[in-house]
Amino acid sequence: MLKGKVALVTGAASGIGRAIALVWAREGARVVLSDLDEDQGQETAALVRELGAEALFLRADAGSAKDYEELVALTLRNFGRLDAACNNAGIGGASAPLADYPLEAWNAVMSVNLSGVFYGCKYQIAAMLQTGGGSIINMASVLGAAGFANSAAYTAAKHGVLGLTKAAALEYSAKGVRVNAVGPGFIHTPMISGLEQDPATQAALVAAHPIGRLGRPEEIAELVAWLASDRASFVTGSYYPVDGGYLAR
Ligand code: NAP
Repeated sequence: MLKGKVALVTGAASGIGRAIALVWAREGARVVLSDLDEDQGQETAALVRELGAEALFLRADAGSAKDYEELVALTLRNFGRLDAACNNAGIGGASAPLADYPLEAWNAVMSVNLSGVFYGCKYQIAAMLQTGGGSIINMASVLGAAGFANSAAYTAAKHGVLGLTKAAALEYSAKGVRVNAVGPGFIHTPMISGLEQDPATQAALVAAHPIGRLGRPEEIAELVAWLASDRASFVTGSYYPVDGGYLAR
């Protein structure tokens, strides 16, 4: 499905990002990976190579425009093109009601979860236009379409990702760059391991998903791989929940 394509994923050291890297490798892509965590990121790169795919890892901060620019430049230097990119790196942020939400936590979440997606799109689109187009997938959340108490920054940033995605799609779809957003429900990854430690919270989270369980990273990666592929050639400017029915209520 992705044979010959060069595909980039951020936040690739863990959770959903690692799963995306592995599905992309399995589908035949050459994979560029980035994360803040060098050791775990290199581990993902090794897992990609075990699947027979080429892998390149760069430690990069998704909250830094300069790092994103370098990541895309490295991709072009090594592979000469960029066909698909998933702006996946993200943080959960503080848990507090809005009036008590710490300013520094707000700024940190906005920097990575929203500005980071803007930086990614900015440099990825420019690269994709050089070789006739590509596909960008921005990692939102069900909290890009619904509120969640005590998570104002995360909820606002993920709603922002949907708006950014639509604006970019309007501007670049006719030039060959498709831009879509994906909205996972609650997925078993280190990001939510704190929430899962409390049995009552765990039960409430499961109950919020009509399918009766939380998701697995691979279940998000499958949709991201499809959106990255030419099989999704008429799909742009859209938001795809992968949420076990969370938003159906
Ligand atoms: P995860 O397991 O914590 O993975 C996120 C990865 O991003 C980590 O390796 C993390 O590195 C990295 N990262 C954090 N800040 C970064 C930065 N500034 N620059 C580069 N890398 C950075 O979380 P996940 O659940 O896979 O989340 C991936 C994406 O899915 C996020 O955008 C998240 O908002 C979204 N999502 C997750 C869920 C869920 O329930 N898990 C639901 C909806 C949406 P460190 O570990 O070093 O911080």
